[in-house]
Amino acid sequence: MTEIRAENPPNIATLRKAFGLTGNEIFAWDGVIYNPGGGGLTRALIEHEKVHFRQQREVGGPEVWWGRFIVDPAWRLEQELEATAVEFKVYSEDYGRPQRGRRHHDRAWQDRWPPHHATVCDDSQHDDNGCSL
Ligand SMILES: [Zn+2]
Repeated sequence: MTEIRAENPPNIATLRKAFGLTGNEIFAWDGVIYNPGGGGLTRALIEHEKVHFRQQREVGGPEVWWGRFIVDPAWRLEQELEATAVEFKVYSEDYGRPQRGRRHHDRAWQDRWPPHHATVCDDSQHDDNGCSL
């Protein structure tokens, strides 16, 4: 079971300087998904973040990984492509092909790239303007 904390990741100050954060992003850090916005997470997103956990271990930990993620866009793209491939696979297992009736999920695709992963809502939290979290 992946640990999810509704709080900022340890490097939030650095991330705020590097990226224009909206507050709906989630962050992988050493086996924990930090979800400060508290939005719902799909299984596909959790599996995406689990790829980042492995990537972080492979380079020597989350400090090293995030340090390069911030300053090296080409490397960041490589990391994200690997994680997104897994995410798409899980997404298609859980939802099939995106449909118009699943507009909020389609929005989630569009809104969260780059460089972080906006959280998505479930049907109970969905309204005509998207997620109301
Ligand atoms: Zn990612």
